[in-house]
Amino acid sequence: MTLTERGNTTVTGRKRLHVITWGCQMNVYDSARMADVLAPLGYAPVDAPDGADMVILNTCHIREKAAEKVFSELGRLRRLQEARAAEGGRMILAVAGCVAQAEGEEILARAPFVDIVLGPQTYHRLPEMVARAARAANGDKPGRVIDTEFPAESKFDLLPEAAAPQGVTAFLTIQEGCDRFCSFCVVPYTRGTEQSRPAAAVIAEARRLIARGAREITLLGQNVNAWHGEAPDEGAWGLGRLIRELAELPGLLRLRYATSHPLDMGDELIEAHRDVPTLMPCLHLPVQAGSDRVLAAMNRKHTAADYLRIVGRLRAARPDIALSSDFIVGHPGETAEDFAATLDLVRDVGFAQAYSFRYSPRPGTPAAGAPGQVPEPEKERRLQELQALLRAQQARFNAGCVGLSLPVLFTGPGRHPGQVVGRSPFLQPVHVTGTTELIGKEIPVRIVAALPNSLSATLEKERACA
Ligand code: SF4
Repeated sequence: MTLTERGNTTVTGRKRLHVITWGCQMNVYDSARMADVLAPLGYAPVDAPDGADMVILNTCHIREKAAEKVFSELGRLRRLQEARAAEGGRMILAVAGCVAQAEGEEILARAPFVDIVLGPQTYHRLPEMVARAARAANGDKPGRVIDTEFPAESKFDLLPEAAAPQGVTAFLTIQEGCDRFCSFCVVPYTRGTEQSRPAAAVIAEARRLIARGAREITLLGQNVNAWHGEAPDEGAWGLGRLIRELAELPGLLRLRYATSHPLDMGDELIEAHRDVPTLMPCLHLPVQAGSDRVLAAMNRKHTAADYLRIVGRLRAARPDIALSSDFIVGHPGETAEDFAATLDLVRDVGFAQAYSFRYSPRPGTPAAGAPGQVPEPEKERRLQELQALLRAQQARFNAGCVGLSLPVLFTGPGRHPGQVVGRSPFLQPVHVTGTTELIGKEIPVRIVAALPNSLSATLEKERACA
């Protein structure tokens, strides 16, 4: 998953809420929904934590030394909380997300100034938690709150409908949790077992996002292609069917989904890539390693050949599909031969983009205590070699776009005055000289130059895309 760090963009309202988001797009979605939950209480997002009435640190456990980073950030926030108190105000401090889920008691013990600790499944209960934390301010103990349950009720049924304007691109969580238990991953422990939202609820939320301005929706899940939601009539749909239904919604120009497990790339979904133009020709399909021995140790339950077969079927269905992936280098037991097999797989596939990391143990996961831990310098050497290969593939893919006419969905102002930026179908940022009137429109452009991580282009005079 893509790691991000985001603040907030609007400043309105009576109580100031600052949400710090670490981690993947699902955390970005969760942070937006937490702000929605708190809006009826008078909280409105602000860009900085200084002077805020409430700060939520929405954490991610995928990061190395995740808990230490949380405690370090909490130290910084504590100083702001004290400064606020010195002014006669109060800053409620909440820790949310996967580190909160995994280390909730530890956070309350080591950081007594934290008011609320909540897991990813309970943020619909935030108003009640805030009320309890506020009572603590009046000396009505106990006010500190920890809620890291996996409640029987679904938070999605209880979240308020968001009303604020929506950007051109939107995330929509359709699935949470995971039953696959990869050796290195905390998700099944922090997000729980796999849960799919009903199709009707997903379609209703998509309609609302479009009504608020979204033109591209990315469907999210820890293992999104395992989605199997209750159908509006009876039975269940798979993701391929859901994509076909969503693609019919007026106003929606583009659909994407992330993140997928290779074993859940079923026929129906692959056929959707062939048949549904709204579904972008771009897929993040993590493989993690290219050695069958390591894939077995990771409990991935597929081989390198299985992955290559799936890639072949996807390319047969959609020849221009751009693939990206995740790689973990130096999983316990990985030998030099195993790593060479990863490089072979990368050469065989040819990725447009990829994320790669050194293996680092996550407490409580099977790989953390496994024998054969690879020394750090060797992990680093392998990572550098892999990243050099992936960078070269990305550069080749971007260079191959020069001269093409591609439709770009414009999303915002560019880095320089007079520029706007959008995304190609393959998710590359594309910069053109143009006005902000282009934002929200999908327009053909001619790619004129490729940079390592983006493209530059000129607007096409004619509306014909290659
Ligand atoms: S498929 Fe594996 S890596 Fe992905 S969320 Fe599930 S357990 Fe984690």
